[in-house]
Amino acid sequence: MTFRVGQGYDVHQLREGLPMWLCGVQVPSAVGFVAHSDGDVAIHALCDALLGALALGDIGHLFPDTSDEFAGIDSKILLRRVMALVREKGWELVNADITIALQAPKIAFLVPAMRECLAGVCGVSPDAVSVKATTTERLGFVGRGEGCEVWAIVMIGAK
Ligand code: MG
Repeated sequence: MTFRVGQGYDVHQLREGLPMWLCGVQVPSAVGFVAHSDGDVAIHALCDALLGALALGDIGHLFPDTSDEFAGIDSKILLRRVMALVREKGWELVNADITIALQAPKIAFLVPAMRECLAGVCGVSPDAVSVKATTTERLGFVGRGEGCEVWAIVMIGAK
């Protein structure tokens, strides 16, 4: 088997009164993400990691935010499309590791649901999908509650 790794990074701004989606799960929150899509910053980072592993560009290139087709789109649809592309090229997701930096609200209790959701969309076991949440100890734009930052790393394999 041959392997490749990919990494993805995304940031979204927070604003009051908008929905907050992370890893395909809606988070109960007074603030949510400013975005052209549903703003699922974690799925966007994961998509970029998968695309990065195959040097296929990035999510903005594949699904332009200038296109009406993607206005308010459920990011799970984008992830499903990226996974289809990965499989089309003969690769399978081995595992993914995602770190979400968010000051508030607390999301740790949603991590099992997030892993389950991403694993379902990617067609892998939840054991292969790690989601970790951290604050930044009130430092920086994340700490001030202005935005959310996500890093994703994947390994993909082919026979
Ligand atoms: Mg994004």
